Amino acid sequence: MIASKQLDRSRGTNYYDRVMRYYEHVVKDDITIAVAQTDVKGDRMLRPHQQEDPDLYVHIVGRESDGIIVRGAKVHTTQSIAANELIVLPYRNMVKEDADYAVAFATPVNAKGIILIPRPLREVEINMLGDEFPMGKTNVEVETLTIFDNVKVPNDRVFLAGEYDFAAPYGLTFALYHRFTAISYRAALADIILGYAKLFAEYNDVETASHIRRDIVDIITYKEYLVSSAIASAEKCIKDPNTGICIPNPIYTNVGKLTANAKYLDAVKDMIDVAGGLLADIPSTSELSNPTEERYMVKYLAGKRGTDPRVRIRLFQVAREFLSALGALLSVGMIHAEGSIEASVIELYRSYNYDISKTAALYNADLAKIDDVKKLLEWW
Ligand SMILES: Cc1cc2nc3c(=O)[nH]c(=O)nc-3n(C[C@H](O)[C@H](O)[C@H](O)COP(=O)(O)OP(=O)(O)OC[C@H]3O[C@@H](n4cnc5c(N)ncnc54)[C@H](O)[C@@H]3O)c2cc1C
Repeated sequence: MIASKQLDRSRGTNYYDRVMRYYEHVVKDDITIAVAQTDVKGDRMLRPHQQEDPDLYVHIVGRESDGIIVRGAKVHTTQSIAANELIVLPYRNMVKEDADYAVAFATPVNAKGIILIPRPLREVEINMLGDEFPMGKTNVEVETLTIFDNVKVPNDRVFLAGEYDFAAPYGLTFALYHRFTAISYRAALADIILGYAKLFAEYNDVETASHIRRDIVDIITYKEYLVSSAIASAEKCIKDPNTGICIPNPIYTNVGKLTANAKYLDAVKDMIDVAGGLLADIPSTSELSNPTEERYMVKYLAGKRGTDPRVRIRLFQVAREFLSALGALLSVGMIHAEGSIEASVIELYRSYNYDISKTAALYNADLAKIDDVKKLLEWW
C-alpha cells in the first residue's frame, strides 16, 4: 500500500487501487498467503540482468493486453505448500537494465506453471510424529524452491511491472515489517529458552554458581533487548503521510533484528551450558512406560532433592527440539565434550603464563628493565 501509493504519485499509475482490491479479496475470502521475495540469485556479485542465466531472478518475459508472463525462481518460501496465494516481491534494488526484474504480483499457488520443491517432508513428519517435539508437532514449517515457469499474471494482480527505481521501496518496506514481526516472535522464543535454562539450573541445583547466573542473565539480556526494541519500534513508529499507515521505527527494528540474528546461538549456548550433556543424550520418556527402565531412570536421572525426575527427563527431552537430533549431538558436544566452557575458563585462567605480560606492563610503567622482558621472551 505504502510503496504503490508512492509509485502512483510519482508516475500516475494505478497500482494502489489494484493493491486495495487485492487486500479486500484477502480479507473477504480469508485466504492464507506466503511471501516469495528471495530470488535464487546465482552469482551474488552480479545484478539480475548480468547473470549468465537470465532466470535467476524472477522477471517479466512477456507482456500481453490482459497481463504479464513471468519466469524465474524464488527460494526459502515459507508455508507456500499450505497457502492459497503467493505475494511476489522484488528482493533488491534495481537499475534501468533490470527493468523486467522489477516485478511484484499476487498469484494463486496452483496457477499453471508454478512448481514447488519443498525441503524433505520426511524431516518434518518425523518431528510431527514424536511426543518429544511439541513445537514441531503443532507448528510445522516448510520452505520451498518456488519456480515460475512462464506463469501468467492478470493485470489486476500486478503491482509493479518495470518501474525499476521502485523495486527497492517495495522490497525494503516489506522487509521492515517482516523484521518487526521477527523481533516480536523471537522475544517469545527467547522466553522459552530462558525458561528451560532457569528450570535446568533449578533441577540440577546449580543456581548459585556464578557462571550459571551469568548464562541466565545473558539470555534475559537477549530477550529483553528484543522486547525493548519491539516496543520502541512500535512506540516510535513513523506515520506514512500518503496512506496514514504506521511504519515500525526502522532504527529500533533493525538494531533489534541484528541482535536477534547475532546473539541467538549465544542464547542457545547459554542454555546448553546450564543444562549439561543430558541435553544431547537423555533417554526417551517413552522408556518410562517400561517399569524396569522407569525404576532405573527415576533413580539415576534425579536432580535436586524434592524435584520430580520425570519432569527433569521431559525438560531435557523437549529442549532438544531447539537443537534437533544431530544438532544436539554436535552443538552440545562442542560445548560440553572434553569439559564444559567453565571448565576451560578455569583451566585457562589458572595455567596461563602471565609473566611476559606483567613484566611488559612493569617495563611500561618504568618499574622493570627491557632486559627483563627480553629474558622472558628468550625463555618463551
Ligand atoms: C527458515 C527460513 C525461512 C525463510 N522464509 C522466507 C520466506 O517466506 N520468503 C522469502 O522470500 N524468503 C524467506 N527466507 C529467505 C531469507 O530472507 C534469506 O535467507 C536471506 O535473505 C539471505 O539470503 P540467502 O539465503 O539467499 O543467502 P545469501 O544471499 O546467499 O547470503 C549468504 C552470505 O553471503 C553474503 N552476501 C550475499 N550477497 C552478497 C553481496 N552481493 N555482497 C556481499 N555479501 C553478500 C550474505 O551477507 C551472507 O553472509 C527464509 C530464510 C530462512 C532460512
